Amino acid sequence: MKITADFHTHTRYSHGTGTVNDNVVNALSLGMRAVAITDHAKNHPLIGVKPETIDTIRKDVVTADKEYRNIRVLLGLEANLISPRGDIDVTEEQADKLDILLVGFHLTAYQKRFADYFALPWNGFTHIFCKNTAKQIARNTQAFVDCITKNKVDVLTHPGFRLDVDCKAIAAACAATGTYMELSSRHRTPSAKDVEMIVAAGAKLIVNSDAHKPVNVGKCDWAISVAEEIGLGEEEIVNVSDKPIKFRRGLEI
Ligand SMILES: [Zn+2]
Ligand SMILES: [Zn+2]
Repeated sequence: MKITADFHTHTRYSHGTGTVNDNVVNALSLGMRAVAITDHAKNHPLIGVKPETIDTIRKDVVTADKEYRNIRVLLGLEANLISPRGDIDVTEEQADKLDILLVGFHLTAYQKRFADYFALPWNGFTHIFCKNTAKQIARNTQAFVDCITKNKVDVLTHPGFRLDVDCKAIAAACAATGTYMELSSRHRTPSAKDVEMIVAAGAKLIVNSDAHKPVNVGKCDWAISVAEEIGLGEEEIVNVSDKPIKFRRGLEI
C-alpha cells in the first residue's frame, strides 16, 4: 500500500524546515499526484500563520503548482481547536481562501477564553501523567464533535494525540458530516483498535505524513503498517489509490 497524495505538510511558514517548493519536490519524487501545504494557524504560539500571511503562502503554492505539471499543489491550514465548545482559530472567511481545512488539538494553543485553559489544555496536561478520566474523555469528545458540526472541516488531524477521546463517537460525527479522520504516522494515532472502531462507524480515513521536514513528506510507514495489519484498503482510506477524493469544503481531486 502506498499513499498517492499527502494532505498534511508543514513549511517554514510555521515550524517546518523547508519551503513550499521543497515539500513539492519531495512529493513529486515519490510520484504523488497532490501535496497540501498546511501550516499551523494563528493561535499556535510564536509560529502560527497570521491571517495576512495566507495570501503570501498562496503565491508560493500557485508558483509551484504552475511549475510542476504532474502534481497538484494545494493550500491549507491546520487550525487549532481552541475551546471545549468546538471553536477554531480560522474564520469561515479565511477558510474560503484555502483549498483544504485541517483541524487538530495542540496542547499549547491559545484558547478562546481564559476559562477554556481549564478544559482541553488541562486535560492534555494531565494526560502526560495518566489516562484522562471518563468525565474528561466525554468533554474532549464533545469538543471534537461540536467542532466538526459547527465548522466545515475537511480533515481532523491526529485524533487522540495528547487527549483521550471516544473515537467511535467522533467517527460517527465525521461520517455524518463527511469529515475525514487522519491516521497519523508522526503521532502514531489513532491506535489499531480505534481505527477498527472508526471504520465500523462508517468514517473514512486519510493517511498523512504531517511532515515538518521536506524529506518526511509522504513518509507514512507506521500508518501503512497499521492499515495493512487490519486489512484496510482504498474502501476505507481515501488517499491510497488514484480514485477521485471529494472533500467536505468542495475540493475534488
Ligand atoms: Zn498537528
Ligand atoms: Zn501538523
